[in-house]
Amino acid sequence: MDWKPIRKSPELQAVRPHLLDYEKTCAGFSWEAVRSELSGLPEGKGLNIAHEAVDRQAAGPLRDRLAFRWLGKDGAVQDFTFCDLKEQSSRFANVLKRLGVEKGERVFVLAGRIPPLYIAALGCLKNISVFCPLFSAFGPDPIRQRLSRGDARLLVTTERQYAKKIAGIRESLPQLRHVLLTDIDDDLDETVLSLPRLMAEASADFTIPPTDPEDMAVLHFTSGTTGMPKGAVLVHDAVLTHLVTGRYVMDFHSADIFWCTADPGWVTGSSYGIIAPLLHGITSIIDEADFDAERWYRILEEQRVTVWYTAPTAIRMLMRAAIEPLKRFDLSPLRLIHSVGEPLNPEAVVWGERVLGLPIHDNWWQTETGGIMIANYAAMEIRPGSMGRPLPGIEAAIVRRVDDSVDVLTEPDVEGDLALRPGWPSMFRAYLHDEERYRKCFVSGWYITGDLAKRDADGYYWFVGRGDDIIKTSGHMVGPFEVESALMEHPAVAEAGVIGKPEPIIGEIVKAFVCLKPGFEPTDKLRLELIGFGRTRLGSAVAPKEMEFVDSLPRTRSGKIMRRLLKARELGLPEGDTSTLETG
Ligand code: AMP
Repeated sequence: MDWKPIRKSPELQAVRPHLLDYEKTCAGFSWEAVRSELSGLPEGKGLNIAHEAVDRQAAGPLRDRLAFRWLGKDGAVQDFTFCDLKEQSSRFANVLKRLGVEKGERVFVLAGRIPPLYIAALGCLKNISVFCPLFSAFGPDPIRQRLSRGDARLLVTTERQYAKKIAGIRESLPQLRHVLLTDIDDDLDETVLSLPRLMAEASADFTIPPTDPEDMAVLHFTSGTTGMPKGAVLVHDAVLTHLVTGRYVMDFHSADIFWCTADPGWVTGSSYGIIAPLLHGITSIIDEADFDAERWYRILEEQRVTVWYTAPTAIRMLMRAAIEPLKRFDLSPLRLIHSVGEPLNPEAVVWGERVLGLPIHDNWWQTETGGIMIANYAAMEIRPGSMGRPLPGIEAAIVRRVDDSVDVLTEPDVEGDLALRPGWPSMFRAYLHDEERYRKCFVSGWYITGDLAKRDADGYYWFVGRGDDIIKTSGHMVGPFEVESALMEHPAVAEAGVIGKPEPIIGEIVKAFVCLKPGFEPTDKLRLELIGFGRTRLGSAVAPKEMEFVDSLPRTRSGKIMRRLLKARELGLPEGDTSTLETG
């Protein structure tokens, strides 16, 4: 079915969008002009995200404005003004200083969406240490991998997470000198300390040291097809992209109340759940609880949310819930809905308009880009199913790789690799300790994103699929290799191949094909045991939900598992080119 474009004239919108003339804005755009809008550290001492997001606001008229409203699972509410955030993040920065955590050293946070996570993020940026958030749903294996690859120097977590997931792996992490627990009053020992005690003892004054815009700021792990997770390094200069996308994509205006539903374990939750709204001096809602349709509509109503940033899995779950929101909830303040992370079905865009009274604006980016790169803007026609057009200041293209170079495909509607011209401020500067993998992402002056896409004659981009085996489940990237490696640690497993199997709500589910070692029978009992083993080791966000026993896995002659073939067989699709398949 062809979906009709959705056009809402700027005059009919409650607030006049910032980006009205796309071509003109692109033509007049310069990153240097954006840089000059930011105050920078006093006395020309550089550019620091936390200064721009918090201290600058706390020193001006927005000082007493609500910055974060935190809604606890159990009904508790905590409010933080810009001034509160300044003081608390300064305390945390002083805690880091006291414990000898230095510039560039990695501070990990493993926690749900609780206030200390947000305070730690900002305090860490002030100390020019590196903020590394982890999903709280990870099991011990992914956590150990990331702490170890990231040379974790300090970890902030809760008593429960510590006992369940960290205490047992602590010995294998010699660099991890301190663990701060958010919910104990007394230290456990000399290295496992009470964060509340340290915060109470710390001063609320902190002078941000000189910060080079190229200093490492945030480290997010993302999944690869081969090998273990990659740590994408973002730097303080990324703040320019957050400022621009906050204006042109999110269309923040001073009275906005913004709700980004993403967890900071994912880059959306740090770039847009923390940094971008603070930069624009607006109020953000943080909800600790997991998805619940009733709760979400209630939050939109009660908090009078005006701009909402969420993800396709959640939207599909809302579509399935038998609720007619406009009959039961007053959502009149809401003026913009954005989505990111997975393909957004055209049905969902149109559903938004019919059921919520607003279409859903899809946008595209990834951990490596640090900020939104392609978007459907408030004032522009939405083409349901399209990711939109490149951000002003971003040059995108569809390319085809030819040996060591690329051809740029200028014809419209041709499928190829989605590529971006390097040089935007939030572009990742490295995969930590993995220079070769980083270098391989750049070919002939283009960053190759790993996604396949098309561009239509009017410059709108359309997602086609991933160019690799990475799985997207509930918006979360899962690297098959990491799952296969964990399963192979079970004594019954000889080898495993893992794929993403399409699923209508969460996009894909993780499915494992397992070959058993001699002497093990493929029983239902063993299958359940292996599924349980996966959950314990990997955590619910990553573990396979389906498992099938097979006699052998298809491999290339060079020994690589052909996941593409496993997937084609699972879906009953043509097997494609199997010339490299090992036979016999
Ligand atoms: P992550 O680095 O975890 O944010 O994942 C980035 C990947 O998610 C992209 O490379 C895409 O494969 C996918 N993705 C993000 N946004 C979209 C979108 N709007 N449409 C389709 N896929 C998306």
